[in-house]
Amino acid sequence: MHELGIAQRLIETAVALIPAGAPPVALLRVQLGALAGVSKDELLFGFEAMSPDTSCAGARLEIEEVPAVVHCPQCGIDFPVADVDQLLCPTCGSPAVLVMQGKELILTSVEIHETEVHDEAVHA
Ligand SMILES: [Zn+2]
Repeated sequence: MHELGIAQRLIETAVALIPAGAPPVALLRVQLGALAGVSKDELLFGFEAMSPDTSCAGARLEIEEVPAVVHCPQCGIDFPVADVDQLLCPTCGSPAVLVMQGKELILTSVEIHETEVHDEAVHA
């Protein structure tokens, strides 16, 4: 399960971003592309497993799922794809398409407890 390693890297990145002596991390926001090859549930599980004993202990991981968009150079069109098995242009059938969006796994923001300005609702 490579999500454990990914979760660990996210935690290390977040910890490196916050200043030394800062309050613990409250929230990490991540953008996860549909073609990133990472399971959202497994990543959440990995984060739960890896975050205790780090500055991210007790933090919430918020994952925004980014849909995949592919570009066909022949037709000059962009189109959405649901999964990697559909990496063909729907118009000309060409497999020579470019993934424009959907492979990313990006840590977009890290919030520490001090900077919280509004109530954090707990979403199940
Ligand atoms: Zn095409």
